[in-house]
This record gives sequence, C-alpha cells and structure tokens, in this order.
Amino acid sequence: MFGRHKPLWGKKTRLKSSYDAVIIGGGLHGLATAYFLARDHDLTNVAVIEKRYIGFGGGGRNTAIVRANQRTSQNVPLYKEALALWPVLTRELDYNLMFFNCGNLNLMHSEAAMNAARMNVATAQFHGVESHLIDAKQCKELIPALNISDDITYPILGAMYHPPGGIVRHDAVVWGLAKGAARHGVHIHQQTAVTGIGVANGQIVSVETDRGKIHTPRVLLAAGGYSAAISYHMLGIKLPISVLTIQAMVTQPLKPILNHVVSSGTYHAYANQTLKGEIATGAHMDPWPNYTTQTTAYYIKHQAEALAEMLPCLRGVKFMRHWAGLADMTPDMAPIMDGNAPLKGYFMNCGWGYFGFKSCAAAGKYMARFMATGNCPDMLKPFTLRRFAQHRLMGETAALMSYSPDN
Ligand SMILES: Cc1cc2nc3c(=O)[nH]c(=O)nc-3n(C[C@H](O)[C@H](O)[C@H](O)COP(=O)(O)OP(=O)(O)OC[C@H]3O[C@@H](n4cnc5c(N)ncnc54)[C@H](O)[C@@H]3O)c2cc1C
Repeated sequence: MFGRHKPLWGKKTRLKSSYDAVIIGGGLHGLATAYFLARDHDLTNVAVIEKRYIGFGGGGRNTAIVRANQRTSQNVPLYKEALALWPVLTRELDYNLMFFNCGNLNLMHSEAAMNAARMNVATAQFHGVESHLIDAKQCKELIPALNISDDITYPILGAMYHPPGGIVRHDAVVWGLAKGAARHGVHIHQQTAVTGIGVANGQIVSVETDRGKIHTPRVLLAAGGYSAAISYHMLGIKLPISVLTIQAMVTQPLKPILNHVVSSGTYHAYANQTLKGEIATGAHMDPWPNYTTQTTAYYIKHQAEALAEMLPCLRGVKFMRHWAGLADMTPDMAPIMDGNAPLKGYFMNCGWGYFGFKSCAAAGKYMARFMATGNCPDMLKPFTLRRFAQHRLMGETAALMSYSPDN
C-alpha cells in the first residue's frame, strides 16, 4: 500500500539490521520520543516501527483536547509543560499544529462535584496553571448556547474554567513529529510489526519484526492499547493495564456556536467545535475490556440525548461520522513511564488512557532524556511501574470520574 509513495516526512529508508534504539509504535509518544532523542541527545540512529501507518492508533483517533488541569501534583507539572510546548513545536517543526487555546469548561452538577473541583483548582493554581471555579451564570456568559435551566436531568451548578487549554489538530501533530524526527535522521518504518523482543543476560539485545531482526540495546514500548499484550507475550512482564474502547463522533458543519471545549462527567459527554465547524464530541468508554474499534448505536443515542440537554440548539443536527479507538487504562489513570527494570534497556511509555494526546510533547521530551542518559528525570519518577506493587497509586481517577470523564 505504501510501496510506491514517498512518505510525507521525506525519503523512504531501508530497514537496517541494527539501531541504537528501537521504538515500538508510530503513535504520539513513539514519535515524540524519537524526535526529542534526535533533537536533544543526538541519538539519531533510531527506528520507529509501526505495524500499520503512523497515527493508526489513538494518535489519529483522539478528539484533540489539550489542557493542564489534571488532578494531582505529580501530574500537573508534566501537562503544564506539554501545553506550553504546542506553540514551540509549531515553530520548531515548521508545521502548523493548529493550536487553538479556546479554554476548557468542566461542568459541575452537584455540590460534591463543586467541592472536588475546588481541590483541583487549588492544585492547578499552586503549580501556576490558570484555573478558576465559576458559577452557572458565568458559564452561560462564556457559552451562550449552554442550557443552565433547572429543568434538565442534571442542572449545571458551575464549572472549572481553564482558559489556557483548547484543541490541537491531532493528525498534524503526528505528521509534524514524524517530519521533525526524520529531518534529524530517525527512520520510520510503517507496515512493519514487532513480533518479538530478544533478551540476553537481563539486557535487551534485539527486536524481531515481520521484516527481519534488528539488533539494539534499547527498546521503547509505545504501542498504546497494544502495549500490555506486547509486554506480556514478548517479555512475560505484566502491566496493570486494561484496554477499553473509547468512541467519538462529529456532526455536520455548523456556524460558530461553541467557542470553548465543554465537558460534563455527569452527562458523560464533551464537545468542541472544530475549525471546519463540526461539533466533535465524545466520552463514551465501553465498560468492559476489549480490543474492538467498533462504534455502537447505544453510544450515538446517549450522545444525542446528552448534547440535546446541555446544548439544546444542537437538537436535530446530524452526526456525520463516528469512530472508536483503544484506551490503555491503568488503575490510577496515570501513565507508566519507566526504564531499565526489570530488564536493562527496556523502556516503557504507555498506559495513557484518555490523556495521551495532551501529554505527548512533554512525556516524549523526558522519556528521551531517560533513554539517552539512563537516569530517570525527576519529572518521571512518580510514574514508575513499581508504584502499583508498592500501593503508591496516584489520584488521577479524580481528574476523570468525579466531574471530567472527557479527554
Ligand atoms: C476516541 C478517542 C478520543 C480521545 N481523545 C483524547 C483527547 O481529546 N485528549 C487526549 O489527551 N487524549 C485523547 N485520547 C487518548 C489518546 O489518543 C491516547 O492516549 C494516545 O493516542 C496514546 O498515544 P500512544 O503513542 O501511547 O499510542 P497510539 O497513538 O495509539 O500509538 C500506538 C501505535 O503503536 C502501533 N503498534 C501496536 N502494536 C504494534 C506492534 N506490534 N508493532 C509495531 N507497532 C505497533 C499502533 O499501530 C499505533 O499506531 C483519545 C482516544 C480516543 C480513542
């Protein structure tokens, strides 16, 4: 399929028999890490191995929402840095990532949720991230189309308002990072699946692919929803990750009506208006683990009902496309970023669940530093795999469940 075409990021490269590092997965985190390995550490003899095409996973399926107001002190600084990197990367990659910092509103529908949001806002402000608690009237001033009447299933009491958040064009991020990495000499091999990982004396030595063996002392697992299966079946290392399906959809294009990202954990729905005018909306996650990327009629009905209550002007608007992707969820909804244990040369950057788009730039930067130096940067220390065995889980589930199931 890709045989005759020149890839967008430059010339096609030959699959070599040895690289200094092999990255499994041409998604957001694989490409971001490859880019920073080459840019910051001069580690350019690197291969990104992608079984389908770059952006095949969550990278090309997400709803493009970015923000930095996560729940915990371990997470907020990472997401803050990631948010600040979008304009920097746009310039550096010379690629328009279409960052639109329109601001995010996470709606609250109960006093309990408002109290939870107070804690969240305090954590964000402590870390210098702009976040405010606003009441229903202020929500309406920001989004006139919002229904703040009492006569809906879950009346809106207020919102957590995060002005610096917004949306970034997801496929542009994938292509821009691929272009940036390739410009520095990284090889990107599409249509190439990793089928095994070689180990000798507790050290990574090679990667098997369906196009041949590659010798390498370092491997990064960045295979999104497939990471846990790869780690277990190829290395026998179990990761506490459940794979769930997330669905999303877009409406027909409309005139501008929604100039912020709005989300509600209670309605289990979020929406933003794309630059084309479509309302991109999502949040539904199938509750049972599975690897399907099928959508369901149940979800379409749910989404129509939720949007019709929150934004009544959308009644009668047509859904044009719907799709699904995989979310690799850890028990505390924070990622696993680790390296060198239990195998030397084995690095992991996975378990991103709902949050892997907004974080990819900063996570890639620090993961690259970890891989190049062998020392775990302070920013990544809370995200070890060991935290699960040591019962040191983070409270990021609160960033999602109590009031913000979105993105
Ligand atoms: C519908 C939906 C909406 C979302 N919305 C948001 C959002 O608004 N904001 C946000 O921050 N996040 C969002 N996410 C989550 C985000 O997309 C993911 O967290 C992110 O894509 C994870 O990035 P990744 O690089 O780890 O994995 P991916 O981007 O999934 O990339 C992994 C890649 O690995 C490849 N691969 C797998 N197995 C192999 C193998 N054996 N050999 C070679 N390659 C392999 C896959 O083909 C894939 O391309 C959403 C996800 C979905 C599905």
